[in-house]
Amino acid sequence: MKTIKDLNIKDKKVLIRCDFNVPIKDHKIIDDSRIKGALQTINYCLENNCKIILLSHLGRIKEESDLIKNDLEPIAKRLEELLEKKVYFSKKTRGVELETLIESMKAKDILLIQNTRYEDLEGKKESKNDKELGAYWASLGDVFINDAFGTIHRAHASNVGISSNIDSAVGFLIEKELNALNALNCPEHPFIVILGGAKVADKIGVIENLVTKADKILIGGGMAFTFLKAKNIEIGKSLLDEENISFCQNLIKNYSNKIILPIDIAVTNNFTNDENYREKNIEDIELDEMGLDIGSKTLSLFKDYLKNAKLVLWNGPLGVYEFTKYRKNTDELLKYIVDNNLKTILGGGDIVASATTAGFKDKVYHASTGGGATLEYLEGKKLPGLESIK
Ligand code: AMP
Repeated sequence: MKTIKDLNIKDKKVLIRCDFNVPIKDHKIIDDSRIKGALQTINYCLENNCKIILLSHLGRIKEESDLIKNDLEPIAKRLEELLEKKVYFSKKTRGVELETLIESMKAKDILLIQNTRYEDLEGKKESKNDKELGAYWASLGDVFINDAFGTIHRAHASNVGISSNIDSAVGFLIEKELNALNALNCPEHPFIVILGGAKVADKIGVIENLVTKADKILIGGGMAFTFLKAKNIEIGKSLLDEENISFCQNLIKNYSNKIILPIDIAVTNNFTNDENYREKNIEDIELDEMGLDIGSKTLSLFKDYLKNAKLVLWNGPLGVYEFTKYRKNTDELLKYIVDNNLKTILGGGDIVASATTAGFKDKVYHASTGGGATLEYLEGKKLPGLESIK
C-alpha cells in the first residue's frame, strides 16, 4: 500500500480526507479523539511545507435541516486549539469562494472545507461518487492523502473520486489500522476469535472468512442462541435469527472442534436491567426466560481457551452491554486479556465502545475504529477506498 511517506509532498498542495465524524451536541464536540487522530498526518504535511486542504463528512445530510446540525465549523475551531495555529474554513464545498481561499493560501496554511455530504442534498453527489465532483475536488490539490478509515469501505467522491484523478496514498492513521489488521491474514497460533453481538446475519461473512484461519471461535452474545437452537436446545425468549439456523447447523457440523458455545447463561424474564437474573446451564432455559449474558462457567471456559493464545480477535459484546447487569462478563474477559497481555485486536463498533467505557481501550494491542469498514475487512472484502489507491 502506498503511504504518505512514499509520495513527494514537499511544498505541495495536499488534500487530506480526514474522519472528523465526531459526536456533536448543540454544536459542541463531545469526543475529539478522531480530530486528534488526524494530527500526525497534518503535522507531517506542515513539516513538509505543504498547503493543507482538509475534507471530511459529518453525519448524514438528507434534508435542509441536517445542514446546520452537521456544520463542520466547530471542527475547524477545535483543530486550531489542538494545532495552536489558524485553521481557515470554507463554508462552501465548491465554487469561487472556496477557490479564492485556496489561491490565497501560503505554505503551512490549513483550510478545512465544509462537510462533504452537503453535496448529498441534491442528488447524493458525495455518497454516489459523482465523477464531476471527485474530479473537481482533485483539481484543488496536487496530491491526495486518504486518512479516513471509517469510510474506506465506501466509494465516495471525497475518497475514490479524488484518488482516481491524482497521485494518492494513505495517511498514518489508515497505515496503522491496516498494519494491525494485517496480522489476521497470517495469524500466529493459537489464533482465537471471540464473537458476540446481536445477530448471526451480521457476522456470517466474518465467520466464513475466519473459521478456516482460527483455532477456536468462542461465541457469546445474542448470536449464541441461534447456534444453541441449531443444536435443538430450548432458548426460551432469547434472541433468535430464524433464517440462519441452518447456517449455524452446517457450521457446527463442519467445524465441531472449532465452534465453542456457552455452557451456561444469565437469564431473566424481561428485557430490562431492573430485574434480577439467574445463571442456568443451557439445557435448563425455560420457555418464558431470555438469556442476556453468558454465565460464569462459560466465562471460565473462554478464559481457558484464551490462556495460550498468540492472537485474539474480538468482535461484539458477550451480553447486553448497555445494561449494567449484563456487561460484567465482557468487562471481565477484557480485563483477563489485558492482565495476561494477550495480543488482541478489538474489531470495531460495540466492543470498542465497551472497552472504552471499561477503560481498556488503550491497553489492548489494537482497537480498530472502523465499524462497518472493519467488519468488511474482517469479511475479506476488497475496500474501494484502498483499491483506488493501489
Ligand atoms: P453487534 O452490533 O452485532 O456487535 O451487536 C451489539 C449488540 O448486541 C448490543 O447492542 C448488545 O446489546 C446486543 N446483545 C449482546 N448480547 C445480547 C443478548 N444476549 N441478547 C440480545 N442482545 C444482545
